Amino acid sequence: MKAFTFHNPTRLHFGSGQLAKLTSEARKYGKYVLLIYGGGSIKRSGLYDRVLELLHGAGCEVTELGGVEPNPRVTTVNRGAELCRQHRIDWVLAVGGGSTLDCGKAIAAGAHYQGDFWDVVTNKVPVQSALPLGTVLTLAATGSEMNANSVISNEETKEKHGWGSPHVYPAFSILDPAFTVTTPKDHTVYGMADIMSHVFEQYFHRDPHTPVQDGFCETILRTVIATAPLLVNDLANLQHRETILYCGTMALNNVLSMGITGDWANHDMEHVLSAVYDIPHGGGLAILFPNWMSYVMDDYLPRFRQFAVQVFGVQEEGRSDREIAEAGIKALRDFWTSIGAPSRLADYGIGDEHLEAMAAQATARGPRGNFRKLDQGDVLAIYRLSL
Ligand code: NAP
Ligand code: FE
Repeated sequence: MKAFTFHNPTRLHFGSGQLAKLTSEARKYGKYVLLIYGGGSIKRSGLYDRVLELLHGAGCEVTELGGVEPNPRVTTVNRGAELCRQHRIDWVLAVGGGSTLDCGKAIAAGAHYQGDFWDVVTNKVPVQSALPLGTVLTLAATGSEMNANSVISNEETKEKHGWGSPHVYPAFSILDPAFTVTTPKDHTVYGMADIMSHVFEQYFHRDPHTPVQDGFCETILRTVIATAPLLVNDLANLQHRETILYCGTMALNNVLSMGITGDWANHDMEHVLSAVYDIPHGGGLAILFPNWMSYVMDDYLPRFRQFAVQVFGVQEEGRSDREIAEAGIKALRDFWTSIGAPSRLADYGIGDEHLEAMAAQATARGPRGNFRKLDQGDVLAIYRLSL
């Protein structure tokens, strides 16, 4: 393990009935709140009305920004930041999936920056401060509820980048599995693929002796694999929703990365895919990840052997490390296909038209990943394997 510092300041209110905490949380952060949400799922589920009622009960005056897009746009961030300045907003409340939460982080930081927020996303300007942010999560996937990351898209330049700052950890996040039961099957599956991918990004590392972290990762993966088939056949099942919701938070709240350097090449490659084609993030990851695994496994077979045996229970007897590794990767692909995840770019109607430009874009800031550094040619090869 490498030396590390762990600090995660988000107060997590998890479980049934926790929305009631919104009242005491709201009283801490001031009267003027910007409520942001997505395309309307919270209005259909009734969560919007309950949140408004609690905010009004806490004495808040609410300004609203609805219509945050999946793969949120920087234009929406700039609009939200401007609203914060105009209405002297004290704090931001994001209610929705990862896209709404990521947009909330950007708006909270953007409120203190007069320019185009794309300057921050592209690392030209550092974040100095941000408004306090609270979240109510409705989709298990990103871990955004308990991390300092955000991913923002630029429709004009067809780019999508992750950025982060300790200033944008949510001050509090409220997670009740009941708010996730209306998530349709496709987004439920994309969310689980994203959760597993976050674990993979931190499991496939080269740092020595991390038995506890390995066990955390393997437990989350096995739990998602056991729960996913039950959940996709019973989307209203609160116990399965709760299990997956908890997995999502634990997969990306810095716990798994203590003492290791994660890889993150697949996220970088996927961001270009969803920037150019506006596809769901988890769908893109499900297509790419097994192909990345096949492409890099020979660099460090023991890790892939451990993955196959510990996560998918691949039989070792009479098999070489390589055969075991291959069986593990195939088990992952078969598992994702069995729950309805896409497996090829063609599933989204994506052909090879833009692959070279996309590989160039993915590596514009230099080689990607740490498990193995991928240059432009490597990324292109993985995109081609994914056709
Ligand atoms: P999302 O884009 O927030 O939401 C996807 C869809 O699900 C939306 O149409 C949304 O509808 C709907 N939805 C959400 N909750 C629902 C519910 N309870 N019932 C019915 N429909 C619901 O999905 P996401 O996977 O959470 O977020 C994806 C974004 O996060 C991507 O941009 C990705 O790159 C980013 N990401 C961030 C991190 C991070 O650490 N911050 C990590 C990985 C990925 P409405 O819009 O109507 O609500
Ligand atoms: Fe992700």
